[in-house]
Amino acid sequence: MGGTFDPPHLGHVAAAKAVLERLSLSRLLLVVANDPWQKSGTRPVSPAEDRFALTEALAAEVPGAEASRIEIDRGGPSYSVDTAEEILAREGGDHPVELYLVVGADLVPELGTWHRPEDLRRLVTLAVVSRPVPGTTPAVPEGWRVEWIDGPQVPISSSEVRRRLARGVPVDDQVPKSVIRCIERRGLYAVL
Ligand code: ATP
Ligand code: MG
Repeated sequence: MGGTFDPPHLGHVAAAKAVLERLSLSRLLLVVANDPWQKSGTRPVSPAEDRFALTEALAAEVPGAEASRIEIDRGGPSYSVDTAEEILAREGGDHPVELYLVVGADLVPELGTWHRPEDLRRLVTLAVVSRPVPGTTPAVPEGWRVEWIDGPQVPISSSEVRRRLARGVPVDDQVPKSVIRCIERRGLYAVL
């Protein structure tokens, strides 16, 4: 499950728990994008190390989930296809690994704009988690193996959490306590 995690929130927790349960995964990596290239041109993105620290705090709330540095350590723009190739090369060995790419339903219409989508779809099975998004349910993307996961439809986004924090509005109902403490320690998102 890749993301900007700027910051991570209870929607990510719900999505992570839903996929872990539905797909009986042995591990779930919360992969923190180093440079989320499709976002970084349009808005300021918090430093990767801050987002990683927050994501580690979030992962501690979800048994079976762990924060991954793989894209931060690789550096540069974060392409899921590079990450998939790296994970399969590292974990493959004698035991074939089945790799899922977990995405929220809001990302399905964008998959074709990702880097090397034809390579990516050969390497992974998509796990699409439902998300309250305006409009209709996205169509099954052409050529991908897909599992649809009906999550609890948590109406929370990082954008909304950032907007609230910038206005000094509490986010206790949107972000785990441990993550809020980490945000405060690092002095993130507040209006200075
Ligand atoms: P932003 O508002 O900045 O776009 P976001 O809330 O979408 O942030 P990301 O870090 O971009 O958070 O999300 C990482 C992954 O988690 C994406 O695949 C996204 O679709 C999914 N996701 C985020 N929030 C939810 C949610 N509430 N329910 C289900 N999936 C979610
Ligand atoms: Mg988003």
